[in-house]
Amino acid sequence: TPVIGVLALQGDVREHLAALAGAGADARPVRRPAELDAVDGLVIPGGESTTMSKLADIFEMREPIDKRIAGGMPVYGSCAGMIMLAAEVLDGRPDQRGFAGIEMTVRRNAFGRQVDSFEAPVEITGVEGEPFHAVFIRAPWVERVGAGVEVLGRVTEDDSRSQPGVRRAGLESSSGPAAGRIVAVRQGHLLATSFHPELTGDLRLHRYFVDLVRAAA
Ligand code: GLN
Repeated sequence: TPVIGVLALQGDVREHLAALAGAGADARPVRRPAELDAVDGLVIPGGESTTMSKLADIFEMREPIDKRIAGGMPVYGSCAGMIMLAAEVLDGRPDQRGFAGIEMTVRRNAFGRQVDSFEAPVEITGVEGEPFHAVFIRAPWVERVGAGVEVLGRVTEDDSRSQPGVRRAGLESSSGPAAGRIVAVRQGHLLATSFHPELTGDLRLHRYFVDLVRAAA
């Protein structure tokens, strides 16, 4: 059983722990370097990337995580976790810093403010079945990827218009600013999504990550 940590400095740690356990991992919160040493893979949860960045320094986790990433440890970041895995962040705070992660540029809060969170179907390459019911909460999108980055998913069209009770922002039409935006990527052992599969009870992405951790072990 792969041992997978969830970076537990801030954010929706509990939901990721539950999803990982459901996907067959031995899931543990990780706050300290010694706890990081004990895991085969790491999830960086959704939350606030500026706060997470500060806490990574305070808890002296930045260097240990960078080292593990350089050593090939698989990492999955959702939403704020995606931001923490981006080489470049637009609309970030000047002092915020991510880990040595994916060759990509993300834009923070790209889809709108908290009140404007929305949901949309997103197909993920390598994950079979129905499109994900993707939940975006002040989510980033990916503006640019490097040559080594595989795009796994995009917002295709604004299907949310036909779903009752779904709030939309930045999705005025299928040709609006969100259409076509990259919301899931992978670079080797690093995986990131703008949305939160841990909030919808769909374990397919966590299973995908658990498989990735198994393969890397
Ligand atoms: N807007 C948050 C940030 O900038 C991310 C939101 C989320 O993780 N749901 O970190």
